Amino acid sequence: MTDKTLFERIIAREIPATILYEDDRCIAFKDINPQAPFHALIVPIKPISRLGEAAPTDGALMGHLMLTAARVAREAGHGENFRLALNNGAGAGQTVFHLHIHVLAGRPFSWPPG
Ligand code: AMP
Repeated sequence: MTDKTLFERIIAREIPATILYEDDRCIAFKDINPQAPFHALIVPIKPISRLGEAAPTDGALMGHLMLTAARVAREAGHGENFRLALNNGAGAGQTVFHLHIHVLAGRPFSWPPG
């Protein structure tokens, strides 16, 4: 019995993932169901359920996630063109309730997003 989030289990190496980057505040790994040739998730170690639940004191962490997203895209060779997505709430498409930023690259992106 566990109440860890799926992503906490990846952080704990209980579930395998292709890890691209990790430090003391976040982890980046490949999405298991990629929606673009490059699709990574940037996840804080702290299990904040969604962006709307982040506290004002999480500001530096939120900035670190953004900068890590750019770093991961750049290191994958997609520094010039990438898209970030963050689904907040089931109605917005969130399925894993541990805050994460999607980093998508390697194909054209239309606007508005679906
Ligand atoms: P969201 O729908 O915004 O909550 O995004 C959750 C993402 O987690 C989806 O894009 C899934 O494909 C991805 N995902 C689910 N399980 C895994 C896993 N075991 N390893 C990597 N990515 C996963």
